[in-house]
Amino acid sequence: MVSEIIKLLWEIQKTDNELNYLTKKVKEVPEKITGLNLHLEQEIKNLEQDKTNITNYKKEYKLAEIDLKTCEEKIAQYQIQLYSAKTNEQYKAFLKEIETQKKLKNEIEDKMIELLEKIESTEQNIKRREKEVEIIKEDTQKKIEELKKEEEKIKEEIKKREEKRKELVSLLPTTYYNIYEKIKKRRNGIAVAKIENDTCSICFNPIPPQTIIEIRRNEKIHYCDYCGRILVIIE
Ligand SMILES: [Zn+2]
Repeated sequence: MVSEIIKLLWEIQKTDNELNYLTKKVKEVPEKITGLNLHLEQEIKNLEQDKTNITNYKKEYKLAEIDLKTCEEKIAQYQIQLYSAKTNEQYKAFLKEIETQKKLKNEIEDKMIELLEKIESTEQNIKRREKEVEIIKEDTQKKIEELKKEEEKIKEEIKKREEKRKELVSLLPTTYYNIYEKIKKRRNGIAVAKIENDTCSICFNPIPPQTIIEIRRNEKIHYCDYCGRILVIIE
């Protein structure tokens, strides 16, 4: 009788451990899916950002073209005026204007080269990112499908364990089941501890030799003196 009870308690504990593990795993699935989707969204956002950037660079380039034209027109204008200068001071003033405009022209041209380089590198980035997004999209879909299949499998496993547990519990006298549940609640989900190398396998405290002998005799149920868990010997 005692040996039967101990066997049942151990089987219930084993099933509960498996249920714990499987429940944790099943909970991880939606988190993993969210993570995958977030990664994809981030990649799409980066691509969109590049596209926005390139539009802005192109706009800036067009504006620079207008500025350059204005600048060139001004230089031409001042050069004409230069020849019609009546005084030396006027002449110097026009020369100074021409210098200023030429400096500005150089700055605009530098900016345009810089913008062209940015446009080129961003275009390359876009091409690369578009390919990457396609790959990640496919990969994400595949992984999500796999995860959902895995989730189904785990749920099946949980169902099987729950049925098995119900059966085991129905065979165990209620008094013992209540004890089991009480210890389990108080002791972090583990109510039954194996004895390994003469120690409690959960709290690692030594079990007196006399207790081990009594447990082997299956006369009554023993509890660990330190952690209070039900002790079993599994060979
Ligand atoms: Zn213990």
